[in-house]
Amino acid sequence: MSVFDVRKRDGLARIGVLKNGETILSTPAVCNMQELFPSLGERGFTNLPLSAGASDAERFFAAGSEPSAVHPQAEAAADAGAYLFANWNNTVTDSRRYVEYLEKLYAKIRPDAARYAPASALPSNVASLIYCGFDLFDYTAVDLCTIQGKFCTTEGEFEADYMEKGICGCEGCRAGDLGLHNRLALEREIANARLWIERGQIREYMEMRCRMQPEQVEILRRLD
Ligand SMILES: [Zn+2]
Repeated sequence: MSVFDVRKRDGLARIGVLKNGETILSTPAVCNMQELFPSLGERGFTNLPLSAGASDAERFFAAGSEPSAVHPQAEAAADAGAYLFANWNNTVTDSRRYVEYLEKLYAKIRPDAARYAPASALPSNVASLIYCGFDLFDYTAVDLCTIQGKFCTTEGEFEADYMEKGICGCEGCRAGDLGLHNRLALEREIANARLWIERGQIREYMEMRCRMQPEQVEILRRLD
């Protein structure tokens, strides 16, 4: 079982350390989650939509091994070190459901366990996810943007030719590598958010960041 140790809190946001076997990961973090939790590659038919009702949850929901999946209509594992918020990517543009699910799910899980939001994190929304208490992310959403020819920034996702406008000087932009830029932009934004948690000012950072994202402003308002 993995062990998650919260080192600093700022509202719902946390800085922590996840120990899983030989791996020690400082969070919030983005990584290859299948390397961290090999069981993620072996799960079939466990991806129940968050909106599924109680009867479907009873028939089809399986928490699986770590990270243990959670669902609004099911009990959560009592001893997990990490929880998987499957299909969270489908809620990021629906603030009402986002906050409703967050409240329901946080009430079910151990507070001192890592929270993984799969396929959700972009440079434009990861500060909001971290502000809401998520710790672990993957590269799925930014890699999807790369396939779609989108240039990811903290202000949003733009056409690939924005890479030539000189707004980012990262290793990826210098090499004309959109995929590398998108991954580095996500890593950089997570590092930024971490810094503001350390300073106890993640709220101020989030307010500054979300101005161009109406759905994030709405999440903030509903959380308050
Ligand atoms: Zn770049």
